[in-house]
Amino acid sequence: MTKTHRIAVIPGDGIGKETVPEGLRVLDAAARRFGFDLALTHYDWSCETYEKTGKMMPDDGIDQLRDSESVFLGAVGWPGVPDHISLWGLLIPIRRQFDQYVSLRPCKLLPGSKTPLANRTPAEIDFYVVRENTEGEYSSVGGRMFPGTEREFVSQQSILTRIGTDRIIKYAFELAMKRPRKKLTSATKSNGITFTMPYWDERFAEMGKSYPEVTTDQFHIDILCAHFVQHPDWFDVVVGSNLFGDILSDLGPAVAGSIGIAASANINPEKNHPSMFEPVHGSAPDIAGKFICNPIGQIWSGAMMLDHLGEPEAAKAITTAIEKLLAEGGPRTRDMGGQAGTEDVGRAIAEAVAAS
Ligand code: ATP
Ligand code: MG
Repeated sequence: MTKTHRIAVIPGDGIGKETVPEGLRVLDAAARRFGFDLALTHYDWSCETYEKTGKMMPDDGIDQLRDSESVFLGAVGWPGVPDHISLWGLLIPIRRQFDQYVSLRPCKLLPGSKTPLANRTPAEIDFYVVRENTEGEYSSVGGRMFPGTEREFVSQQSILTRIGTDRIIKYAFELAMKRPRKKLTSATKSNGITFTMPYWDERFAEMGKSYPEVTTDQFHIDILCAHFVQHPDWFDVVVGSNLFGDILSDLGPAVAGSIGIAASANINPEKNHPSMFEPVHGSAPDIAGKFICNPIGQIWSGAMMLDHLGEPEAAKAITTAIEKLLAEGGPRTRDMGGQAGTEDVGRAIAEAVAAS
């Protein structure tokens, strides 16, 4: 019997409505080529929905998604709707309710992509950032006292649990094991943050004992940021707490070039809840509606989704098709120096996957 994967599709706002159809076009080509089915359920949840109904998604939105294996998301956000509404009304509930504790971003220089780093070749920038996505510095524990007086003070705590720390570090080691270099770097700051970060280092060292084949190192976050820019070739898999991972997962794709090609995943590795796959870029109101945006970030997120769904060959066929298209001078959008439309790029990648 053919395997069927149940996918919830949320195009969202702006160029999400243009990139998601191209993502689906390529996923469909991969499904035909590799012999599985996709059962898609479409949701029109967006800032437009918010403007009509006062809600980004219905009250039972999370329950509606619960049966899917993954969520394929475009972009959420629009001028006039504050970030706390678009984020906290849709993205954050999905990440938290479904315990998507891994945020994963590939940082890979693709042929023809413009890295701000001069003279770097694709072989030199190819790593992953793994960010803890549920606790740490973003734990919302703290308070403010004596507001408006001279005694005013605020505090915010960073919470690391053993379960939360171990599971993200374990995920990063497992990912490193699957890569040829088998190298894992930890982001720390145990010289300045004297309780949580030494604990992070301790758990990192402890977990490393179970993975003797993985080479490890660690850097303080400040110098690590400098190394991302000066020595991106040093890195293979990099793991960080919520805050440090947040910083690195914007810096990493930036050193690898165009925002339009960067992909990301919010993963529940145990697969007891859906995971979510989305491009790094936002809804890009300045170019929305023109079908000139780059769909590659979305398509690449689709490849990450297939990998998570247990279709690694199909995932590889998509990333290979993207790399070939760029290396061989296929259609490219304006952000990559071409003139092609969003759909031209989607079609070319879909055709290459079908022919793979
Ligand atoms: P958000 O807050 O939702 O992350 P943002 O305003 O920070 O959104 P984007 O929406 O990603 O950022 O847009 C930043 C810039 O990058 C804009 O000029 C936009 O046109 C451009 N951009 C973003 N995505 C793409 C894409 N897929 N193709 C081409 N250009 C893009
Ligand atoms: Mg932004």
